[in-house]
Amino acid sequence: MAFKLADLPYSFNALEPHIDAKTMEIHHDRHHKAYTDNLNKAIEGTPQENMSIEDILKNVSKLSPAVRNNGGGYYNHNMFWEIMSPKGGDMPMGKLGDAIMDTFGTFTTFKEQFTAAATTRFGSGWAWLYKDKDGALKIGSTPNQDNPLMDVCEFKGTPLLCLDVWEHAYYLHYQNKRPDYIGAWWNVVNWQEVARRYAL
Ligand code: MN
Repeated sequence: MAFKLADLPYSFNALEPHIDAKTMEIHHDRHHKAYTDNLNKAIEGTPQENMSIEDILKNVSKLSPAVRNNGGGYYNHNMFWEIMSPKGGDMPMGKLGDAIMDTFGTFTTFKEQFTAAATTRFGSGWAWLYKDKDGALKIGSTPNQDNPLMDVCEFKGTPLLCLDVWEHAYYLHYQNKRPDYIGAWWNVVNWQEVARRYAL
């Protein structure tokens, strides 16, 4: 098998009360597992079996929709688990904090713009904070499992922070109230991990 489903870096209930244990269990053990399994099926016997996920996504327009959807799902969820933490919340410090202030003016403005991107994404998708090729911080949103590493994405860059706004990420606890889920999610953002990605 080319790609493996990694364990969550914390227990299913670690992000409560903001994200409930049952949602985390189903999201990781079923949804993320399905993306991983289906990615492996889609690349079986192809050169992509020996490539990194980043290199696969970079040229995903040349590959099947199954690789785009499941490769994106595999990458995005790996990142999503890592940019959350039971010790999260608060606000970014250091160089990332400075860059957010320089770009957006205030942390509150940044949160408002990111929240707007996540709230207004129609249907299923993701909101992103990413670093473009010039090193500038940008906010965007993508449909389905697309991400800024993909050549098919309308904006491109290095993903720093991502938020899953598929209903499977929040429906059990928040039902149709996506804004409530987004509001609670800020309490579990792992800014140390976002800063680590920014420094790469
Ligand atoms: Mn998801």
